[in-house]
Amino acid sequence: MSLVLTVHRGTHQIGGTCVEIQHPSGERLILDAGRQLDAPEGANDAVPSSLDLNRPATVLISHPHQDHWGVIGQLPVSWPILTGSKSAQLIAIPGELSRRPLMRTFKTWDSRTGCFPVGPFTVTPILTDHSAFDAYMLLIEWDGKRILYTGDFRRHGRKSILVDRIMTNPPGNIDVLIIEGTNLGTDKPVKTEQQIEEEFVALFNGTKGRVFVSWAGQNIDRTVTLYRAARRTSRTLVIDLYTADVLDRVSGGTGVPRADKHFSNLKVVITKRLRSVYGELGRENFIERMAGFGLSARNLVSGRHVIMLRHALIPDYERCGIEPNAEDAYSFSMWQGYLSETCHRAALEWCQTRGSKIAHIHTSGHASPADLRAFTKALMPKVVIPVHGNGWDEYADGFGNVKRLCDGEQYPID
Ligand SMILES: [Zn+2]
Ligand SMILES: [Zn+2]
Repeated sequence: MSLVLTVHRGTHQIGGTCVEIQHPSGERLILDAGRQLDAPEGANDAVPSSLDLNRPATVLISHPHQDHWGVIGQLPVSWPILTGSKSAQLIAIPGELSRRPLMRTFKTWDSRTGCFPVGPFTVTPILTDHSAFDAYMLLIEWDGKRILYTGDFRRHGRKSILVDRIMTNPPGNIDVLIIEGTNLGTDKPVKTEQQIEEEFVALFNGTKGRVFVSWAGQNIDRTVTLYRAARRTSRTLVIDLYTADVLDRVSGGTGVPRADKHFSNLKVVITKRLRSVYGELGRENFIERMAGFGLSARNLVSGRHVIMLRHALIPDYERCGIEPNAEDAYSFSMWQGYLSETCHRAALEWCQTRGSKIAHIHTSGHASPADLRAFTKALMPKVVIPVHGNGWDEYADGFGNVKRLCDGEQYPID
């Protein structure tokens, strides 16, 4: 009579994660159901072939990144899906905007929710630090067995104290730790979100004109960093309607900036394309509310704003006469590897070819190898199961009793 753990996908790759824990009675929990990041066209939406779709299961989504939830649309509609309440909001946005809504409803927990039962299991979501907002580690318990799944995490973001707390006061008696290892094999030290705030302050102070910045609208930590750096240098951070929507949905009850009267250094640029996208969705009230803290792209033709830039915003900016120049600066504030994609490179080149100063200011959304090892040491698990990494074969030293699995392999927890 033992639990059976199966990593359906993720033992040898970053993203596409899907883990199953099966009770002796056959009841199952699925931890994450992610889309593969680098699969061939058409294959990245596929559910792992070893996952049996013909028996009931309950799905827990650790955080709102697509490589952890992107195939939930392919799961049986009878399977309940649970995630954090703000995570559920963030997961819904891309489908709504592309008019392909998920057609799935979530049961949600929030950061104050303690443990709760799912069939024979007890589940405890533990809020953690990651580049996604509302990200959780998941503690799964049954009959004295304890499994901790880290999801994705880091220890150098704005919520690093959450991970420090887990390390200082670990759950104890962990039989299996399923841990991510995205940054294994890289030895560069990670900067804290506070350090990159200082770098942005220096860039903003050292730039005479505007500063264009590309970052992910759902990376709330980065929005906070940019907002703080803008305020410290008497600049205004200008975000697009999409990012304003993200903040509007998740900032309630937090100190996260949003477009309202309390955050005078934050404005929303109302561009023609996004206005029509939200208009077609019947979100006129939202547009009107944002317009109260908005400005036209024509206001950005000159000045000292810090301006969100994405490939899709360029035509609207150009139509309104915005053109970067040698007094401006540009920062790509995402993983540098994305610059191999044309759409990401377009924003950089738009500024670079016009003589703007270029600065790559970014820090990883994932823990450094040193932090991964320190975390594992503090948790003292009996067994470590690596996932979400492609360096585990070479760099598993310092993680204790590591059990390497293959995708789809069944591992009994005795
Ligand atoms: Zn991930
Ligand atoms: Zn993630």
